[in-house]
Amino acid sequence: MRDSGRWRIHVKGTVQGVGFRPFVYRSAMEAGLSGHVCNTGEGVAIEIEGTADTRDRFLDRLQHDLPPLARIQELAAEEIAPVGTSGFAIRASRSDGPTDAQISPDVAPCEDCLRELADPGDRRHRYPFINCTNCGPRYTIVEALPYDRPKTTMKAFEMCPACALEYADPLDRRFHAQPDACAECGPRLTFVRSRDREIMGSSNLIEEARAALCGGEIVAIKGIGGFHLACDATNDAAVSELRRRKRRDEKPFAIMVADLEATRKLCHCSEEEVRLLSSPERPIVLLRRREGSRIAPSVAPGNRNLGVMLPSSPLHHLLLHELRSPVTGHRSRVLVMTSGNITDEPIAFTNEDALERLSGIAHAFLLHDREIRTRVDDSVARVMGGRPAVLRRARGFVPAPVRLSFEMPPILAAGADLKGAICLTRGRNAYLSQYLGDLEHALAHRAFEDAAEHLQELLGIRPEIIAHDLHPDYFSTRYAHSLSTLHSPLFAAVQHHHAHVASCMAENDLPNEKVIGIALDGTGFGPDGTVWGGEILLADYSGYERAAHFRSVPMPGGDAAAREPWRMAVAYLEAGGTRQEARIPLLSQIDPERIRTVREMIAKGINCPRTSSCGRLFDAVAALIELRTVNAFEGQAAMELEQIANENEEGRYRFTLDAGSIRNIDFSPMIADILEDVGRDVPATVIAARFHNTLVEALVGSCASILSDARYTMRDARVCLSGGCFQNALLTGRLKKQLEAEGFAVYTHSLVPPNDGGIALGQAVVAAHRHRT
Ligand code: ZN
Ligand code: ZN
Ligand code: FE
Repeated sequence: MRDSGRWRIHVKGTVQGVGFRPFVYRSAMEAGLSGHVCNTGEGVAIEIEGTADTRDRFLDRLQHDLPPLARIQELAAEEIAPVGTSGFAIRASRSDGPTDAQISPDVAPCEDCLRELADPGDRRHRYPFINCTNCGPRYTIVEALPYDRPKTTMKAFEMCPACALEYADPLDRRFHAQPDACAECGPRLTFVRSRDREIMGSSNLIEEARAALCGGEIVAIKGIGGFHLACDATNDAAVSELRRRKRRDEKPFAIMVADLEATRKLCHCSEEEVRLLSSPERPIVLLRRREGSRIAPSVAPGNRNLGVMLPSSPLHHLLLHELRSPVTGHRSRVLVMTSGNITDEPIAFTNEDALERLSGIAHAFLLHDREIRTRVDDSVARVMGGRPAVLRRARGFVPAPVRLSFEMPPILAAGADLKGAICLTRGRNAYLSQYLGDLEHALAHRAFEDAAEHLQELLGIRPEIIAHDLHPDYFSTRYAHSLSTLHSPLFAAVQHHHAHVASCMAENDLPNEKVIGIALDGTGFGPDGTVWGGEILLADYSGYERAAHFRSVPMPGGDAAAREPWRMAVAYLEAGGTRQEARIPLLSQIDPERIRTVREMIAKGINCPRTSSCGRLFDAVAALIELRTVNAFEGQAAMELEQIANENEEGRYRFTLDAGSIRNIDFSPMIADILEDVGRDVPATVIAARFHNTLVEALVGSCASILSDARYTMRDARVCLSGGCFQNALLTGRLKKQLEAEGFAVYTHSLVPPNDGGIALGQAVVAAHRHRT
């Protein structure tokens, strides 16, 4: 052949278990190229031989015409000597050499599979475990690498001849689809009544589950990453009963809705929200609910938003479609789908565990025999400023790496204790683990340790540096130090808000140059012994200095103050010298005796750590306007304050910014203004908006002041926003807009949570720079 040549191409990224080799095979065959393709420990190796033209076209297609789940991170092609063979082959995996292959996250059913699911002529018609190379479970079923069926929980099922044929055919959509199965050979459902735990022999178990749900019962359903507790979301009695049994008072339940059409009837959704809802990751998306929808009030009491997800597995599709309400006869198509646990425990993910722990909650269980190796919660996201923001990173997102602009040594970062998550690094990839829950209970500790170990094994990362929070009493900190017995790694203790800012820098690919980092959250250990949380840092990856912070106030009762916002209201009133008695009927819901005690605690400094926390400021304001004096769940007061705020209100309150060496932002004048407004019966919706506007103005003013400070030299005015308070769309949106109007370049989180679920990434990059030689 004229100008014939041969290339060896190495591809790294998510290229295994996603139909990449069949795609290469088809592309090569169509182009008339000869050669072969195989999986390696690091990705995929390809050799092609043909004319320069066809090779160029092939390479172009390889980069721009990928299967939906494939992601190329690196591609290297080298010229080698032609060998003159004909034909193209898919060769067996090579598992020698280093391991850097990536596992795909779990993926919701693709359009092709859904069509087959609904097609009476298809051999997988109504089969609840249908999947292909473009969709299905991945991370949750993998036991070890390389990603082959014997190393997944599908090893228990032997393929029938029909499935085996598809699996072996390079032109089939199920070529090497490891979880491939059918009703003949694959996983099966069982339905269990908890009364007697007897397995029902009915031929259509989904019908049984549906009947139970429509009859107002609670059914535990095994999903992709664990169990859900489900009930009819339009049946208030059923939802209230679920709340009582799950011991969850007010925290909103997520709902699962059959399709977009049904979702639009319940909630307002923008184009961006539609994209997020129907993305392969299928997160729970926070949407503004429509007035007068059929959703039972107890699903999300007093909440303007609803957490909505579309079906994330074929089983969910079958369940949701054709669901009918027994009351109206109308298709109901909406289920509460909340995590299968009691309050804050980890979700159940094995059949035995579910039958044990959930038997006091569920009337019945819809189980199956495909084991879940790795427990993964539902992800939670919302659209902020037209961009998706992942608030809980779990199913669908993990273990896709966050790609960094620089090389990292192998690091394990242990994260923080609220919204636990670890981060492992190799090369330019940072693997942020799934959300591992709040590390308060022994059960959560065990789940955390198991997840951390499994992820290290799976990725083959042996950390040389262990990073953790400064907080000595965090479980995650103790876990980090327990790893010293294994080998002798280096340690790096990273300040909480520095980690927040570094995490935002890393997600946005920023170089190691100083930025202004605004870190606003509930609580983080400060090196001066106070509790930080309203911080403006001048930071890069190597270090930080505290440039400004909210004036610190006493936090009466420590952690109790986070549960009882009224305590912070009293603290702010005392700090501003405002006599509470003069302001009736402030805090009328609280026993005056308790208020007196708290004032005494403050006066005498008993159990009153000082805090600059922004979260506690939100608490104080929510309590002052009697919106919320006691939190039923973490962050409730702040969430409600955002939700009620009148978006058309432009007014604001006073504050002072004193420009010492560390700037102090004092909101006492604002508290006095709020009291005036309350006295004049200004609506809470207006006060809430003015509060947000004041925060924004104070922060923008501080950034401008820092920028003009001769002591600092910053190449350009970059501002990073991080911390749990930036789950607040109103605050994030207004602050970003104002800062940009002042000429700042503003960076926010998108795929990494702004809350403590993203902090491990920041710890890792800081640790890498600190130990850089
Ligand atoms: Zn599919
Ligand atoms: Zn089969
Ligand atoms: Fe935090």
